Formats: sequence, C-alpha cells, structure tokens
Amino acid sequence: MARIEFDNVRHAYPPPPGQEPVYALKEVNQVWEDGGAYALLGPSGCGKTTLLNTISGLLTPSEGRISFDGEDVTHLPTSQRHIAQVFQFPVVYDTMTVYDNLAFPLRNRGASEGVVAARVEEIAAMLDLTDRLKKRASGLTADGKQKISLGRGLVRDDVNAILFDEPLTVIDPHLKWQLRSKLKQLHQQIGVTMIYVTHDQVEALTFADKVVVMYDGAVVQVGTPVELFNRPNHTFVGYFIGSPGMNVLPVTLDGGQPVFHNHLLGTTYPAGADLDGKLEIGVRPEFVRFSDDGIPVEIDKVEDLGRYQVVTALHEDETIKMIVGEDERIPAESPKIAFDPDFTRIYHNDWVIGEQAS
Ligand code: ADP
Ligand code: MG
Repeated sequence: MARIEFDNVRHAYPPPPGQEPVYALKEVNQVWEDGGAYALLGPSGCGKTTLLNTISGLLTPSEGRISFDGEDVTHLPTSQRHIAQVFQFPVVYDTMTVYDNLAFPLRNRGASEGVVAARVEEIAAMLDLTDRLKKRASGLTADGKQKISLGRGLVRDDVNAILFDEPLTVIDPHLKWQLRSKLKQLHQQIGVTMIYVTHDQVEALTFADKVVVMYDGAVVQVGTPVELFNRPNHTFVGYFIGSPGMNVLPVTLDGGQPVFHNHLLGTTYPAGADLDGKLEIGVRPEFVRFSDDGIPVEIDKVEDLGRYQVVTALHEDETIKMIVGEDERIPAESPKIAFDPDFTRIYHNDWVIGEQAS
C-alpha cells in the first residue's frame, strides 16, 4: 500500500502531423492518501482514463513526477508498480475457466496453489461466482465477465492501489447497485487505496470518502460529497453535482453588489477582487424561493418528484431552476423569486471568490 503523489503532472498525446499538442492532463497536483476510497468524477473526455493510466504506468506522463511513498515511479513499468486495474470492458481469457481467470494474477506472481485456492474462493464468494468457477469464461454474459475482471483486480493482496475505470458500465442497473455496495464494503475490510472513475455523480458520492472532480484536463475540486455540494469552488462542480445542478447566472456590479438584470442581489462582492472577465453568481435550486419583493419570472415547467417539485422559471433569457416543497404553493400570478444571500456565491472566470458563508 502506498501514498500516491502527483507533482505537476501533465500529459499530451502525440498530435496529428502539423498540429500543436493538446494537453489531456493540464497540470495535476494531487495526493492520494494511503487507504483512501476516492472517486474520480468528470464528464467524458476530461482526462480520467489518462490520469488513471499514469498511476498504473500504462502511460508515462509527458511532464511531472509521480511517487509512491516518496519513491519516484514516473518511469517504472507497470509490473513494478503493484497496481491492479479494472477496465470499462471485461478483460478475460475466454478459453480459461472462471477459476483460472481469477487465479491468473496470483499464479503470475508465483503464489502457491494453496494461497491461490483460498483467495480465489474468497473473491468468488464475494462476487457470487462460486458455482461458476469450473465453467469456461466464454459461456458467461457480459455481466459475468465483468465480475471476473473485478475479481482479477481484487484477488491480489499485495497491491499499492486498485484502480477501477468505469467498471460497471456494462453491468445491469440492479447488479450495479449491488456491486458498488460490495466494493465499498470490501474497501472497509481490506483498506487498500481505491480510485473509482465514473461520470455518474451518484456512483461517485456513494462509493467515495473523497471525490476528485475533473474538468477539461484539470482537477477542479477535491472534497467530501457534502463539501462539494455546499461549497463548489468552480461553476462546473456546482453544475455537475446536484440534481438539478447549481444555477449559474451572469451578473454585473453596482457599488460592490452583484446585479442580475437590473435586480440588486444581497450578496456583497469582496473589495479589491479582480473585475476583468466573466462574473457570475451560483445558487443551488434548493436556495431559490418565491418572494413577493423578488425578481419577476415566468413559470416554464413544474415537475412533481413526490417529496418536492422542480420548477423551471424564466427571467429575460435566463433559466432558473428551483426546488420547492411538495405542499408549497406556486404563485399563479406574477411570481417573483429571490436567491438566499447566504447560499449565493460569486464566481469570477468560473472560480469562486471571497469568503461567502457555507
Ligand atoms: P475520459 O476517461 O475522462 O473520458 P480520456 O482520458 O480518455 O478521458 O481522454 C482525455 C482526452 O485525451 C480526450 O480529449 C481524448 O480524446 C484524448 N485521448 C485519449 N486517449 C488518446 C490517445 N490514445 N491518443 C490521442 N488522444 C487521446
Ligand atoms: Mg475514460
């Protein structure tokens, strides 16, 4: 097991002839504490797989340093890093039995057949594969094959970390939930560092103690699920986490206070902060409410989700989402809304500024 550290890691894939390289990882400085359960969350194409592959050594970053417990591993081959990696699609040997597939990573490292049997049986039981151990992998469904891949990732007990790259993509929804809880349970039992890549916030928030949010080749925030919800450092985090995500609305300034389409908001802009560039406020739908002296809106849509309703309101050409209680009345005439100033943050070029209340 190891503490994994990234120092100024950047990576550009070789560009097509005549083109400038584009950095898939822009600059990553990140510590993965030994024994942590991390989710790496971000949209497709933001660099999650690239980052994971630099940890396992499938990829050497173009710049920067990666260390395990202080030892530089940037140029070490995968075989010397002791990392288990589970990919998005099953990697199994079709002609081998399920047992032999699970045994492979252990036998490969010279484990005795006694150790192999004990570990394989334990992992198979955990993944409900016990009654299929003697079958050939080729006869299994995609679900079954991916369970073998998970098992192959989990079977060694000498790894520095286990990396999961969207491993439940091919698994059906019911089993998905089951396997995710199993992984979490397993993390609590064995305590090895796990990094779980996903683009699904629910998956990330249920698996991880710490969520690392990536956007466009960079880590934009690391935090507990609660921190990410309450204090998004970047508009993307606010927008990507939460359902619906945070409202991000353009503002101007008047005497130090943000103004949204001629309506002065009760949040103060910190004196001395930079004024060049894009200025926005971020307010979650949970903190927008109806208020008689607020901003006039048109109601575009009301979705009844049982315990609450999601209201889509329009002001000029801006859309504002609100979450209101199931019994709360939606004004039929001249509805007006207000943003709770304690939960409204100001973002300058997408990054939060000042010390607003949490
Ligand atoms: P994610 O896993 O978050 O979907 P990736 O790490 O796969 O993102 O990709 C990040 C960026 O790098 C994307 O723009 C992708 O097109 C590019 N990329 C990924 N792999 C390669 C490759 N082998 N060669 C060139 N570009 C790549
Ligand atoms: Mg990927």
